[in-house]
Amino acid sequence: MPLREQRDVTEIEGVLNKILNINSPPVARCRLLSTGFNPGHALNITEDIGGHKECIGCGNCIDICPILFREPSRRNKTEQRTSMALESIVGADCDQCDACVLACPQVDTTIKNYIVTHRMIEVMSRLEQRIGDEDELDLDLFVEEAIT
Ligand code: SF4
Ligand code: SF4
Repeated sequence: MPLREQRDVTEIEGVLNKILNINSPPVARCRLLSTGFNPGHALNITEDIGGHKECIGCGNCIDICPILFREPSRRNKTEQRTSMALESIVGADCDQCDACVLACPQVDTTIKNYIVTHRMIEVMSRLEQRIGDEDELDLDLFVEEAIT
């Protein structure tokens, strides 16, 4: 089955960058900018849900979020594994790492490719600047554990 034609990022680059610059989980907004459920996705139901942009509750964004990895007590606040849950338990503490967008099956590959090729260097240098910051003890601990 041919893949649905995905979003041309040049048409949405301005709004996409605005979304990625906000201090809040970006995955739900990137999902809405995407083209929705692809017929090639294997979900065995009879209803045609091609093009639907809803969160399918796979929990990938919850699993990949570094904030929730560093602070599992936040994750324990809810059993829900949706973008709405991510927004409520991370909120403005978002690291703006964009990992949730890259992990979401409902976000177009074109948007993911744009993030990897245009945004990742900025993301990494921003995180690197925060290492050693007295207000970011959790981040320091996380990096220390990761490299030992
Ligand atoms: S910290 Fe990263 S993975 Fe977690 S919500 Fe923010 S952008 Fe998404
Ligand atoms: S990764 Fe899964 S749970 Fe998160 S927004 Fe995408 S579809 Fe929803």
